This record gives sequence, structure tokens and C-alpha cells, in this order.
Amino acid sequence: MSDIKKVAVVGGGTMGNGIAHVFAISGFQVKLVETSRELADKALNTIGKNLTRMVTKEKISEKDKEEALLRIQPELNLTEAVKDVDLVVEAVPEHFKLKKKIFAEIDEHAPEHTILATNTSSISITKLAAVTDRSNRFIGMHFFNPVPVMKLVEVIRGLDTGDEVIQAIIEISEKLGKVPVQANDSPGFVSNRVLMPMINEAIYCVYEGVAEPKAVDDVMKLGMAHPMGPLRLADFVGLDVCLDVLNVLYDGFKDPKYRPCPLLVKMVDAGKLGDKTGEGFFKYD
Ligand code: NAD
Repeated sequence: MSDIKKVAVVGGGTMGNGIAHVFAISGFQVKLVETSRELADKALNTIGKNLTRMVTKEKISEKDKEEALLRIQPELNLTEAVKDVDLVVEAVPEHFKLKKKIFAEIDEHAPEHTILATNTSSISITKLAAVTDRSNRFIGMHFFNPVPVMKLVEVIRGLDTGDEVIQAIIEISEKLGKVPVQANDSPGFVSNRVLMPMINEAIYCVYEGVAEPKAVDDVMKLGMAHPMGPLRLADFVGLDVCLDVLNVLYDGFKDPKYRPCPLLVKMVDAGKLGDKTGEGFFKYD
């Protein structure tokens, strides 16, 4: 049995605030680390709004919401935040140098028993673990957006990750009401290795004039029962993020089957990144 009670979530953006939300509503004490008071407040506001939505849908009571919010303590000092926690989940932007710096600091100041987990979508778990002196207590804990809604946690074993650490993360994921699925460390893990080539192929269909974006998405929605077409999903994920992940696959396997479609590259160059810029394969208000 794992005895994880206190958790630090580093980064309170899209993923971090969702991760803090699910830990807090499941009864864990959470320290939410951000770089400024303003960003920490923004994360807490988002969590408050999302919890209110759960109250409206009668999934939790007003009291559950208030108690969950009280369990989240915003922190601006990483060293201070990790000094007495049992688990750290890192969710800062997808840059190796930034994550490396953060994990070196966490490793220095967190107690020996603390498990270090990263929510990275594409960086090697083994390479990040090697930044620390506890690669046996380092693991990938890959949540999906929006975190309070999506059931999957991809649990990724690095080269040295200990069995008891895998077990602890499986147990804790279940306590969060999630379904943990194990994978070994490999470029894109399972999720992005399967998803991104499908998105890339959908983009090739548009690039080669096989079909319009809406037609490509309709085929996958109506014929394959996908809840969202691959191009709509690419816009939601961010075309820049899709390109980065495809490049990770391409570089990692040195296999031309992962070559990003030139149209994807062109759209990223043009700043058409999807929902976040108001235009990608579709337009948004
Ligand atoms: P984001 O940019 O929305 O949020 C990152 C947050 O980290 C920001 O709020 C930023 O202020 C904060 N931050 C930056 N430096 C920090 C530091 N030194 N200390 C504390 N906080 C710091 O990014 P995101 O989409 O939430 O992605 C975070 C991670 O999750 C990435 O590794 C990404 O690959 C992964 N991921 C993202 C998704 C997704 O759909 N967005 C899905 C799965 C995994």
C-alpha cells in the first residue's frame, strides 16, 4: 500500500490545475507551485470554476468543493513546497532544460522517500530521471486534457523505475478515480505514438487534396465512432504541440513514417495553431 498523503504539483497551467483539482477532490493535501502570485491565483480560480461546474452537475456537494479548495496551498517557492511531500507531479512547459533544472532542485530538497513524477507528453522518462540521484523513484504519470474528465493515466516506467513505485502510482491513480495503463519508456509512449501519426495522416489527406478538413473529420467521426475528428483534435491540442511531438517521434525512431506533413509545418510557421490562436484547420471565435 502506498502512503502518499501530501502532493506537490509543479506548474498550474492547463494540466497542472487539473491535476491539483483531482488530487484535492480525492482528499490529498496539495501544494500548487507557480512562478507568480497572479498565475497561482489564476490556477486556483480555474479550479474553483471547474469544481463549481461539478456542483451544478450534482457530482459533488458545495461542502466537497469548499473542502477541496482548502486542501490546495499555493506556493511560489519550489524548495519550500517539496520539503515535506510524498509525491511531486511536474507539469511545467515541455522544455527539457526547464524540466531538468526543476528536477535537480526538487531532488535536492524533497525527502528521500518522495516519488518524482513527470506529466511530460514526449520527453524520455529515463533521460529526465538521470538528472536526479533517485532514478528508481522517478516515473511518468501522463494525464490527459481536461484532467478532471479524462479517465486515462499512462504510467510510464523509465529504465530504473522500481516496481514499488509503479505500484504506488497505479494505486494513487485509482484513488483519483482514473484508470492507469502501464507502458515502457519509448518515444511518444503509446498515446502519442498512435495518435500523432493518425493526425499527421489526416493532415496529409488535406495537403494532397484528398478531402477537405470537415470531410476528413466526418469520416472518422461517423465511420469510426471517434467523438472528435483528428483535425478538430489537432486544433484542440495545438498544432505546434502536434509538430513538436511528431518531431520527437521522427528523431527518436529515425523512421520517415513519422515525418511531419509539410502543411502542418506551414500552418505552425503562419501562427495558425488551432483553438489558442482562433484558427487552425477550423476557425474559432
Ligand atoms: P501550460 O503552459 O498550460 O502550463 C505550464 C505552467 O507551468 C504555466 O502556468 C507556467 O507558469 C508554469 N511554470 C513555468 N515554469 C515554472 C516553474 N519554474 N515553476 C513552477 N511553474 C512553472 O502547459 P500544459 O499544457 O499544462 O503542459 C504541461 C506539461 O504537461 C507539458 O510537459 C506537456 O507536454 C504535458 N501535457 C500537456 C497536455 C495538454 O493537452 N496540454 C496533455 C498531456 C501532457
